[in-house]
This record gives sequence, C-alpha cells and structure tokens, in this order.
Amino acid sequence: MLTVSCAFDAGNIEVVDQRNPADIQLNIRKDHQSDFFQWFFYRVQGAAGQQLRMRLLNADQAAYVDGWEDYQAVASYDREHWFRVPTRYENGELVIEHQPETNSLYYAYFAPYSYERHLDLLAWAEQHSNCRSVRLGQTLDGRDLDLLVVGNPAVAKAAVWVTARQHPGETMAEWLVEGFLERLFDNDDAQARRLSQQLVFFVVPNMNPDGSVRGHLRTNAAGVNLNREWMTPSMEQSPEVYLVRQQMAQTGVDLHLDIHGDEALPCNFIAGQEGIPDTSAAILAAEQRFQEVLMTANPDFQMERGYEPGVFGEETLTMCSNWVGQHHNCPAMTLEMPFKDYDLQPDPVQGWSAGRSAKLGASLLDPIADWLQNRDRTESGDAC
Ligand code: ZN
Repeated sequence: MLTVSCAFDAGNIEVVDQRNPADIQLNIRKDHQSDFFQWFFYRVQGAAGQQLRMRLLNADQAAYVDGWEDYQAVASYDREHWFRVPTRYENGELVIEHQPETNSLYYAYFAPYSYERHLDLLAWAEQHSNCRSVRLGQTLDGRDLDLLVVGNPAVAKAAVWVTARQHPGETMAEWLVEGFLERLFDNDDAQARRLSQQLVFFVVPNMNPDGSVRGHLRTNAAGVNLNREWMTPSMEQSPEVYLVRQQMAQTGVDLHLDIHGDEALPCNFIAGQEGIPDTSAAILAAEQRFQEVLMTANPDFQMERGYEPGVFGEETLTMCSNWVGQHHNCPAMTLEMPFKDYDLQPDPVQGWSAGRSAKLGASLLDPIADWLQNRDRTESGDAC
C-alpha cells in the first residue's frame, strides 16, 4: 500500500487522499501561527514502478503563487542527490508526476538542509584553528542560536557579517554558507588565507533553526517573519534577531550579506540599499562594485533582474540588511537565489541546486577581497 508521510525534520504535508497512485491529493501545511506556506517535504513509500500523480491542492493560496510558474519539484532516493521531476501549475494546483524506481523516496520544494547537517556544519567549522562557535542564546523552541567567528577580532581590519536562513524554507541559503566556509577554511587558497588573516567573519549559518525543523517557509516558532523584525526585535517574539543585533552592536559591522531564496525570479540577484534615503554615494558605489566583481567571479550571478528599489515600502527598514546598513553605515546586501533554475544557465537535471549554491558562496570571497582592497586604498588616502 502506498503511504505519504512527513513526520521528520523539516517535513511538511497534509494527506487529503492517498488511495489512488494516479490521484494523490495533498495540502501544504501553514507555518505555525501564520498564514505563510510554500515549503513542502514528504516521503512516499510503496510506489515502485507506479506512475504517480500528486496534486498539491492548496498551491493557489501559497505565499508566492508566481513561484509555481516554470517550477519543477525536486526528488531524492538517497536524501543526498536531488533531481527535478515533471511539475506543472494548473487550475490552482501544483501537479507533480513521477514514476519512482524504488519503494521509498522523498519530494521537496528544494534540497533540504537538515538540522543534523546544521549541527555537523558547526562541529566541522570549529575543527579549524581560526574558527570558534559562540552560542548567542536560545530560540523559542529551546534550540541554540549559533554564531561562527572566523579570524581574530583583535587584529582584523574589519568585520564581515553573513546571516542566512531567516526564512527557513530557503535552504539554499545554508548550502551557500557551507560553500563559503569550505573555501574560507581552504589553506591552499591564497585569497581565503589572506582574507581570514585580515578580516574577521561573523557567520550565522541558520538564523531560524525552529522554523527549519518545523518545516516552515518563512517564520519562527511564534509565526513571526524575522526579516521584518529588525527595527524592534524582542526576546518574546523574535529572540533570533534580538540576539544577533545585540552581538552586532558589540562587534560592529563593516560589510553585511543576508542570504535568501526567491520563489519567483529564475536568477541570482542582490538587493542593496539603492532607493533608501540617506545612503551615501560611497556605500551605493561599493554595493554596485561588489555585484560586478561577483558576476565576473561566477557567471551564475547576474545584475539585470532583481527587486525594484522601494518595492518594500514602509517595511524597508524593518528588513535585516537595510536596517544593518543604515544602523552601521556600511554596505549591506540581500543575496537572493532561485528555487527554480537560473533560466540563462539551465541545468535540466538539477535546476538551481545545493551544489551551485555552495559554489556561489565560495565565489563571495572574490568581491569581499575587492571590497577590502578598495577600503584599504581609500583609508590610506591615495584614492583620487
Ligand atoms: Zn527570504
């Protein structure tokens, strides 16, 4: 008999009817105490050789319906390798059709990044002599909120902050952090070695561990969207933001990247502080230059498409990178990756993937190095 289940880390689905393999009816569960939903992750057992047709009935009420156009779900047999399966959005439903080769397999919105892998990442990072983990405090579900510090704050020229996964369903953000750290720890990489000597990196690989384990798209255990909490965070509602903001006040911030996934746009892009009043020309120029260097370093990045400046209206300064940029008077950018594929460099098997996210993370060292060089030049007074 065929069964659909999701009682595991980051699982999310509700079974409406699983009796007929040709018409499996499912709903995506809402984030707890919230109306947001879009992340799904479930297991199908007992379906080897059968042509499955799975209908996600409430797809038309998801947070970003635009996200379903030209979107292909991912599947995996071994929970390691994820591949795209035929998916279409029709009559307000997301329809996934696939014939599994073996009895047990998983379907998800994007390659999941498990809580166990998150703990492994922290443990692995701390094996490196120039890295230590700091427990900032506790989340509402009682999990640790961890910060990784790479480099020596006492001698570093500047502080670079990287925050990821405020929105827990955007798992590509933590895949990116993994690739970023892998390169930063690579002793054979001269750029990485120099940067970790000259800078100190403060990295929060997962800003929202509760939402991640709960299988949320966008909110924490209290149903709060952390990326609208930066103006007035509280320990009751958004301890994750409160604790990180407090730490930033101690360390200072000279450059900040907040890592996300975008449901709708089929490309990687950066939203900087363009359009925010009182942002200096020097900061806007540094953000522009950062993007140009990243685009040269990694052709998966592009600058033609992105958010229109001002699109978030009154919410603008409640958002992480905008608040940090204004408060710390520094370049601060939101990096968005697609759930779909990058349409100009498509990969029909995997689409945009964990691996490509990690490589984009590794590429970030190039614009960071360029930013540092320009900063040194400006401070030594030979800029003309
Ligand atoms: Zn996001």
